[in-house]
Amino acid sequence: MKIHNRQLSFTAPILVSFIGIFTGFVMIAILVIISQHKEMLEQYQDINRNFTHNLAVNHTQSILRENDYILSRAALFLAQGNNLDETVNGDREQGLQLMMKLLALMPTVSSISLADSQGRYLRAPQVIAGSVSDSFDASTRPWFMHQAESSMFNHYTDTYTDYFTHNPTVSLYKPVISLDGKLKGTLAFHLDLVSMSFTLRTMQAPMQGEFFVVDREGKAMLHPDTSSLFKTFISPSLLAAMTGGEGSVYDEKNATWYYYYAFTNPDWLAIYKVHDSTLNNLTRHATMIVGWGFGTAAVVIILFGLYLRHASRTVLINIINAINTGDVKRAPKLEAMLSKAIKSNKERELSWVRQATIDALTNCKNRRAFDADIAALMNDHQPFALALVDIDNFKSINDTWGHLSGDIVLRNVAREGLKVMQPHGISLYRYGGEEFAVIFPETHIENSQDYLEEWRSNVANRGWREDGLVVTFSAGLGEWHMEPLEQLVTGVDEALYQAKQQGKNRILLTNAN
Ligand code: GH3
Ligand code: MG
Ligand code: MG
Repeated sequence: MKIHNRQLSFTAPILVSFIGIFTGFVMIAILVIISQHKEMLEQYQDINRNFTHNLAVNHTQSILRENDYILSRAALFLAQGNNLDETVNGDREQGLQLMMKLLALMPTVSSISLADSQGRYLRAPQVIAGSVSDSFDASTRPWFMHQAESSMFNHYTDTYTDYFTHNPTVSLYKPVISLDGKLKGTLAFHLDLVSMSFTLRTMQAPMQGEFFVVDREGKAMLHPDTSSLFKTFISPSLLAAMTGGEGSVYDEKNATWYYYYAFTNPDWLAIYKVHDSTLNNLTRHATMIVGWGFGTAAVVIILFGLYLRHASRTVLINIINAINTGDVKRAPKLEAMLSKAIKSNKERELSWVRQATIDALTNCKNRRAFDADIAALMNDHQPFALALVDIDNFKSINDTWGHLSGDIVLRNVAREGLKVMQPHGISLYRYGGEEFAVIFPETHIENSQDYLEEWRSNVANRGWREDGLVVTFSAGLGEWHMEPLEQLVTGVDEALYQAKQQGKNRILLTNAN
């Protein structure tokens, strides 16, 4: 026989549930970690984009705007009357003083050039007269404006080499146009990119990275490290990808993020360059903390799973013990309900035994059933008749043929009674040792004496295995007239006594009948 039954095993369902819970947990953990990592990365991207925006607008653009504004105002002044001509070709000392005042307004402009339309020029600070200044031709400079090129806007030159300093530079220039539309000359501010770059150093970046400003060729216009100025920092392909006003571009080859902000005039770009590993290091730290949290939770789940498996086995063993021994006192707390169930089950079982209504020896109903049945009839005021039957000389039967034969006699007397009563639905009870009782319900009261008589004669005429054995019984019979049970029984008993007195083997009615 197979001892183990899978349906009785705790291990399989626990294992299945556990794997289910654990798989669910791992999936949630992975999902949370991935989405958290993504979200954090997104947040850092936003921070970097914002930083680039602020750097461009609050630093570079505000400096450029200031210069733009002063240039426009100065050009407007020079356009009036003969102002330009007088400054360049009039009293040069006075002209120089005027331009030096202008220069003092702008900390990021290193020098100013003013030229008339013929190429005569004035530079502040002044260039010492000599061979270099003699050969200087303002009309060849990138900032010089010819009539055909003139427009109302401020312009920035590309990077070019300063004639006097031989340093690369960028100039902001504007045509000076009179109110009647004639080009009078050009005013140019030569930008001091080095001092503009210095202020970049005061900027605090949100994370490790480089920030600088490049022109459309990728050359650094502003850089915190001034030795890097005019060097190429961004490849043309990356620059080509920076099409929007601002945004970010990822350089896969170098695993680098470029956050950019594009200025319109000059055509420069503010760039914040952050290595991908910097971003990942930042997010990895946070992800690791969450990961550790989930890892610890996973270990706790596993430990509880193991405990559950162990505990379920203990419970099973306790249940088996309780079933085997009936001892539920030692059962663990968890089984309080189970203990109760086992107890009440035991009680129910006992009460079933108690409630059994059949007498084992005679197959009649027992005394308990008699008491219950007669009480029910009395309660309901149902008329009935009661007979008490007592086997005659039973003691001597026992004495002569033995107790065992006495039992057989008892059983057979009962069988004869059942044979007569049962077909009519009349109940026969074993009332005491060798005494029987019969309750005749209302419909059978009339025939009660006949049925009793039939039973009596059947017993009296019956043959027995034992030689010379004759069995008879005497009976008392009485109808119930609403008197208490005790009174009824006494009456019937009296009739039975009289029957014995009158020679046994007979049935007598009570006085009341
Ligand atoms: P009487 O005719 O006056 O009734 O005489 P009796 O011998 O029957 O007297 P009594 O009623 O006093 O005796 C009953 C005897 O029945 C006593 C007891 O030993 C015996 N007895 C009671 N129950 C059983 C039983 O289940 N089996 C056997 N074999 N004998 C029983
Ligand atoms: Mg008796
Ligand atoms: Mg007797």
